[in-house]
Amino acid sequence: MFNFTLLTKALILTSLTIMASTHAEILLTGEIKQGGLVVGKTQSGSTVTLNNESLTVSKHGDYVFGFGRDDNKQYKLVITQPNGEIEQRIITPKKRSYKEQRIEGIAKNIMQPNPKAVARSKKDSSQIKAARKISSDLTSFSNGFIAPIEGIITGVYGSRRIYNGVKKRPHFGLDYAGKTGDPVKAPASGEILLFVPDMFYSGGTMIIDHGQGVTSTFLHLSKAYVKVGDKVDQGQVIAAVGQSGRATGPHLDWRINWFNTKIDPAFVLKIMPIH
Ligand SMILES: [Zn+2]
Repeated sequence: MFNFTLLTKALILTSLTIMASTHAEILLTGEIKQGGLVVGKTQSGSTVTLNNESLTVSKHGDYVFGFGRDDNKQYKLVITQPNGEIEQRIITPKKRSYKEQRIEGIAKNIMQPNPKAVARSKKDSSQIKAARKISSDLTSFSNGFIAPIEGIITGVYGSRRIYNGVKKRPHFGLDYAGKTGDPVKAPASGEILLFVPDMFYSGGTMIIDHGQGVTSTFLHLSKAYVKVGDKVDQGQVIAAVGQSGRATGPHLDWRINWFNTKIDPAFVLKIMPIH
C-alpha cells in the first residue's frame, strides 16, 4: 500500500531542512555528550526551545542547556529570530562509559547514619535542591570557567562508587587533592546562593549562581570567605579546602549543575566563549 500522507510529510521535512541550512548557523559551544553543558548565542530578541520547552535567552542572546550522566534522548533545538526566521537542529548527546572507584575507610556513622542524621541529610538536600531551582538573569556561564584549585584530580564525574564494599550512587563531582585551608577560587563570576558549614554528607557546602540555572557547588569546605548574596568575580578566593562530611581526607569536590541536571565540571573547563 502506498501511503501518500507519509510521503508528503517526508517531502515537507526535507525541504524544511534544506531551507534551514541556507540560514545562519546555530552558534553553540560545549560538549554534545552525556554530562555536557552547551552554551548558545543567538540574535537578541530570539526565542529558543529545546524539545518544545522554552529556554531563557538573555538580552544579548545567551542561552544554555545540559545533558545528564545517562541522557540518551534526542533533542530538537529551535530558534525563532525576531523576523520570524526559524533555525533548527537535532542534537543527540554522545554516549560515554564511566569508571568504577572503590573507597575504603568511611566511618560507620556515615555508612549507616542514625535517624537523626538521615533527617539532617534530607533537610540538606532540600536546601540544595531549592538553591538549584533558581534561574537568574546572570550570564557568567557564557564567559568560560577556570579550575577552582590547582590540585591533582583524584575523582571524576560519573564514576560508579563503592564505599567500604557497598555500591552507592555515582559520583558527580570533580575531586581535587588539597590541604585544609587551601584557597578555593570562583570558577566563574556569580552570586553566592548558599553556604552551610556542616551538612551531613557534604560538610561545608557552598553554591554559586552563574545564571540561567547554572550553578557551582563546593563540598567539604573548612571555611567560607563570602556570604549568601555576595557577588563574586571569576578567580576570587571564596572558601578554603577541608575534609568535613563524608570525606576520607582534605579535598575539594566541585560540581556543576544546570538546574537539577548534573553536569561534568571537566567539560565546562573546555567551553570557549562565543564572541
Ligand atoms: Zn567527591
